[in-house]
Amino acid sequence: METILFSFIIGACLFYIAQPYFKSQEGRSFGKKMSRGQILLADLETQRDTILASIKDLELDREMGKVSDDDYSQMNALFRHDAVGVLQQIDAMNGSSSGKAAKRKAVETELKSLQDSKKSQAKLTCHQCGNTVAIDDLFCNHCGTEV
Ligand SMILES: [Zn+2]
Repeated sequence: METILFSFIIGACLFYIAQPYFKSQEGRSFGKKMSRGQILLADLETQRDTILASIKDLELDREMGKVSDDDYSQMNALFRHDAVGVLQQIDAMNGSSSGKAAKRKAVETELKSLQDSKKSQAKLTCHQCGNTVAIDDLFCNHCGTEV
């Protein structure tokens, strides 16, 4: 009887000692793997996938004649409304985490379009022969007319 009690107490003690270790391990790996935003984003992505799957199911059901056209358009509108809402939230979250990258890309696009318009401005046509002349050329290199 005494040995059983003793081993029980030892067991309880070991469990008590080990508990915070397990807890901290769990907490640590969870904290490392995902931030709050990432969990929210993953949740939104799951929602999006579910809605998209529902839309596919709905389309399949209509093809098979299980759903009437009225029901289909009503439910389809509902699903799409939900999908847009979720996608907007995902965009907003992606935007907040990679806002700098998006901004830089917008600037790059703007710069490129600016360069393109400069390039088209940089070329003139000779009013005499229609030859293309560089903007810094003083004379047409085809007919020699002053530009
Ligand atoms: Zn010319």
